[in-house]
Amino acid sequence: MKIALGCDHGAFELKESLVNGLTGMAIIEDFGTFSKESCDYPDYAQAVALAVSAGEADFGIVCCTSGIGVSMVANRYQNVRAGLCHTVDEAVMTRQHNGANVLALGAKAVSPEYALEIAKAFISTPVDESERHARRRWKLERGGRLSDVSILASADPEIFATIKAQTKQEDEEINLIASENFSSRACREAAGSVLMNKYAEGYPGKRWYSGCLPVDAAEELARKRACELFGAEHANVQPHCGSAANMAVYFALIKPGDTILSLSLDQGGHLSHGSPVNFSGKLYNIVPYTVDRETERLDYDALEKLALETKPAILLTGASAYPRTLDFKRIREICDKAGAIMMVDMAHIAGLVAGGAHISPVPYADIVTSTTHKTLGGPRGGLILCKEKYAKAIDSAVFPGMQGGPLENIIAAKAVCFREWMQPEKKDYAAQVVKNCAVLCKTVQDRGYRIVSGGTDNHLFLVDVKKRGMTGKDAAAALDAAGIVVNKNTIPFDTESPFKTSGIRVGTASVTTRGMKEAEMIKIGTWIADVLDNIADETIQQRVKKESKALALKFPVP
Ligand SMILES: *Cc1c(COP(=O)(O)O)cnc(C)c1O
Repeated sequence: MKIALGCDHGAFELKESLVNGLTGMAIIEDFGTFSKESCDYPDYAQAVALAVSAGEADFGIVCCTSGIGVSMVANRYQNVRAGLCHTVDEAVMTRQHNGANVLALGAKAVSPEYALEIAKAFISTPVDESERHARRRWKLERGGRLSDVSILASADPEIFATIKAQTKQEDEEINLIASENFSSRACREAAGSVLMNKYAEGYPGKRWYSGCLPVDAAEELARKRACELFGAEHANVQPHCGSAANMAVYFALIKPGDTILSLSLDQGGHLSHGSPVNFSGKLYNIVPYTVDRETERLDYDALEKLALETKPAILLTGASAYPRTLDFKRIREICDKAGAIMMVDMAHIAGLVAGGAHISPVPYADIVTSTTHKTLGGPRGGLILCKEKYAKAIDSAVFPGMQGGPLENIIAAKAVCFREWMQPEKKDYAAQVVKNCAVLCKTVQDRGYRIVSGGTDNHLFLVDVKKRGMTGKDAAAALDAAGIVVNKNTIPFDTESPFKTSGIRVGTASVTTRGMKEAEMIKIGTWIADVLDNIADETIQQRVKKESKALALKFPVP
């Protein structure tokens, strides 16, 4: 056991006697002060709090004349819960109930002998893990989710109100938007950090500005981790979003007017894959391919035929609304036969790929683009992975080709996200996303709803609601009123306008991040069917809203 101690001049003698008394029971890290000379209590309380916050010490003890100032300082740090104690009873209580890990003591309030008794009681009392205390401690931390932005409460009350509303919405609603997820607190800290202050046009080691050493280190980590995580030869972590990543690839490898073979938007593709309203559709000769009318899956033989006929410069796969596994090996063969560059946009499935729940495109593709915020659950941003031979062209297409200074704070958050994905439990997460999706899909299907392609292999599925007499727009609105958030989505060969659509898209990345499993998916699937079976019945919507909110609140958002 390791204990960090710190005090100011007013509690110097108290601290010395604690150090003596505890030596032998634990490893002591004494942060000072080391004399009675006047000093500032926050300096010492901060040193202890940082050690506990980082997990370098199991417990902290902070002392000053009253114990109040040091406890206030310590409680400003994440993972620190400091309790000011005057009695052994209080020390036992604050351990059991509040899970305190820092003990604050006042030299005027307790004698050195009694302080040692309090400290011994503190470090030997386990935290009470029963449900009610765990729940209260969770609420105590959840206050922290808003306290992260508490300076805004006075600096900009209007923006603070929007963040508060988003926090409440995340807490209370069941989010099934397939392209969304919840970022970790560590990611958000990096994204909100001082790294945003730095201009760093260029790449690590080759910048146009001075003073780039810290951001160089952050970007180098992000690149290295991206390569390691996905087994890629080269990574560019600067694209501001997924569309920008795709744009950079086109700019790097082909010329305006060249042919791109891609899945069209209404079939599950993406705007940046050649939609006529997007730059990609305006600049390039887009040949769209579709899924098979019967199976609603990719027909690789038909794709091969089309590729051989049209000889595209790039054959692009990857989708926003395709519920089935993509066969990258087969796509590689087609690209080789047609002489096309194989580009895969894995924006939606990147987390499944990282966690081993979907075959990786990286060994097969020339270029892989992605976002970092969908199943991957990191900050909002883009990523390009490629073979070494494309590295130079890709890097110069991103900068100076189309972007100026990179967002180094977001790049640091991407690095944090990649590191998180190297932890073994993320494999379980990715597998659980897929399992949850299968169960949710089957629950809805068993209630008589037609599922596009008959099911799902990944994190999302599409429900054909038109078949039951409603539009995707109306279905999404009714579910929204019931606290269940999905989006309307076109289904293959949709006969409704893209504004109304015949389908809804349902994804399980976010609910899985909150820790929900199969049992919760059955509940949610049943609610979805209850609401859609009686789409005009507001009583059902209100009933489901109450129940879904109660369920959501049991599963904390990180
Ligand atoms: C979400 C997505 C993108 C890009 O998204 P941005 O909003 O530009 O970050 C690109 N491709 C696919 C397939 C997507 O699903």
